[in-house]
Amino acid sequence: MTEAEFQIVKSIGFVLALASAVAIQRWRPHRILAGSWRTNSGLWALNALVLGVVCAGCACTISRWASGTGWGLLNQTAVSDWLAIPVSVLGMDLISYYWHRANHRIQLLWRFHQVHHSDPDYTVTTALRFHPGELLLALPLRLLGVALLGAPIAGVIVFEVVFAFANFCEHGNIDLARKIERGVGRVLVTPALHRRHHSREARLLDSNYGTIFSFWDRLLGTYGENRSDTRIDTGLPGIEGTLGTLRILSLPTQGVFRGE
Ligand SMILES: [Zn+2]
Repeated sequence: MTEAEFQIVKSIGFVLALASAVAIQRWRPHRILAGSWRTNSGLWALNALVLGVVCAGCACTISRWASGTGWGLLNQTAVSDWLAIPVSVLGMDLISYYWHRANHRIQLLWRFHQVHHSDPDYTVTTALRFHPGELLLALPLRLLGVALLGAPIAGVIVFEVVFAFANFCEHGNIDLARKIERGVGRVLVTPALHRRHHSREARLLDSNYGTIFSFWDRLLGTYGENRSDTRIDTGLPGIEGTLGTLRILSLPTQGVFRGE
């Protein structure tokens, strides 16, 4: 698979993931919200441009290089693709968990990550709200993860699409039925679990770092229970209303916003 084909498959998966999450949000809304979709979409367009210029198909290139040179866990153990794909998804989701945790622990990283948390509304498009600095800082770690795992290209694509779908759904203004919430939440991150992570209260904010699987938080001591019918005030203290793109981009230089 070429880098261009990799990008096309990934983009189709991204659009389908976004459309499905928006459909679920319309079907089962949690509360009435205007949504900061203009700001969030603007940031996404900028990020797509920046990452496209820096290295759009890098993960594909690294995966092919690792396979050709025998680098990484999965290439060393020569497991079948059917096993390599789920192991890649698990491994890369675990790396994402630790990276997210570091973003809350290290102040320099938080200055960028606070842009994501600064959305006063909590909707599917919050999943698009990232400062380009955060994504550029995360890129080397993501690529190192692909190399260390020796993830096949199919594993990288499945991970990217599942990760995008999970990311859109868990940021959704979505209420799941109590039974479904409890069942799904044992394995996967639900909107209610991640909504707690976007609380204005610091004690709730520093929990539920997972994106696809909720069991990393359970295993690593950062899990916090939450239900769809619990009201959570999302956003950050000191940041009110929808911010414009320019204010958002300069937010890392404007201070550290988070509750006590
Ligand atoms: Zn966070």
